[in-house]
Amino acid sequence: LGGRLPATLRDQFPYLAQELNGHPLAYLDSAATAQRPTAVLDAERAYLERSNAAVHRGASTLVGTSTGAFEEARATVAAFVGAGDREIVWTENATDAINLVALGMADASAGLGGSEADVFALRPGDEIVVTEAEHHANLIPWQRLAAKTGATLRWIPVGDDGTWGIDDAASVIGDRTRVVAFAHVSNVTGFAAPVADVAEIAHRHGALVVLDACQSVPHRPIDFGALGVDFAAFSAHKMLGPTGIGVLYGREQLLDALPPARTGGSTITTVTMERAEFLPSPHRFEAGTQPVSQAVALGEAVRFLDGLGMGGVHAHEAELAELLVDEVARIPGIRLVGPPPGAPRAALASVDVPGVHAHDVGQFLDAQGIAVRVGHHCAQPLHRRLGLRATTRASAYVYTTADEIRRYGAALAEVRGFFGAGA
Ligand code: PMP
Repeated sequence: LGGRLPATLRDQFPYLAQELNGHPLAYLDSAATAQRPTAVLDAERAYLERSNAAVHRGASTLVGTSTGAFEEARATVAAFVGAGDREIVWTENATDAINLVALGMADASAGLGGSEADVFALRPGDEIVVTEAEHHANLIPWQRLAAKTGATLRWIPVGDDGTWGIDDAASVIGDRTRVVAFAHVSNVTGFAAPVADVAEIAHRHGALVVLDACQSVPHRPIDFGALGVDFAAFSAHKMLGPTGIGVLYGREQLLDALPPARTGGSTITTVTMERAEFLPSPHRFEAGTQPVSQAVALGEAVRFLDGLGMGGVHAHEAELAELLVDEVARIPGIRLVGPPPGAPRAALASVDVPGVHAHDVGQFLDAQGIAVRVGHHCAQPLHRRLGLRATTRASAYVYTTADEIRRYGAALAEVRGFFGAGA
């Protein structure tokens, strides 16, 4: 693993030891979902075997144990992203976390949440700003919010390579802007946004900043406070943790004022037949029985990443990113989207192979034991802007080796010849 991470790391991921279509598996789809180390699988099982009970309900010893494990996981995740414990809300996934903010703003716009929620209320003529490169998870909730409130959705345009710059952002964000929502790292191009600079411009205009941190939190050291964002969303399953749980980060003061879009048990202080008073964050948002074993497993995943050191993880992936781009760039006729060779990018690369549909590329690689993602990667507007219907994406993570990237490069170089689409 290039000396940055322990050589024995891969042995801790049982999934990676299997074969795919008669070849050793090269799993190059971690941007879609990452594999779990034994420590994470064991932590979830151990919790279920010994500590499972409803959390925050009743006063038994068993509930004390389960609640302790649940809240300890929250503290672990909070420390990992530079947040306070009350700034971390468990959700179903990142999509759900973004929806929770957008739906809460719709509630605030409808007058729910009282005057303290005014900061979230949108009116006709107000503007929501996204980028043209967003994952649908960070686009459709804002389209819906605009439709409900009469606000206008605007977007920061991307260039021919799918990236954008601070000047593009500054030309769209203005005095009517109330929300600026964008991805820290694009899941299609690997481009990393200038987050702190955008946040600074947004705040100067009095807008809130919502960061889609799905492709950054798993891969680099993150401090949301230092980045200056108001809300952020990420998913456990992309960072060695389980499915079924995501995280909404929010500044404490804002979370305490955001109307809870989903309501029910364990979110309240007092309920009468007419109305309900809500707890402060995070519990005001966690309606119903929580994803407890998943939270415990996510806490273990974060301890695992902390053990590797996020600086080392990022350095390992920066090397792989460079290799990935080199491998793709030397194949004639293949189009690499995103930052040009030499520019920083996350360890993922989406390509178009002219004359061959991405699904065929994916099948050709699959037959050789190489797992990639094909399609529009939930970013149709970006693909449309790039003049493409679909791309083939290879993505790396802590356990990915240079050999796997080279195998991918060698196989990709054969694709056009195999399908008779030119040399
Ligand atoms: N945003 C980005 C940038 C992503 O890569 C993804 C996952 N593909 C999401 C949002 C949505 O994550 P989830 O499906 O876990 O909610």
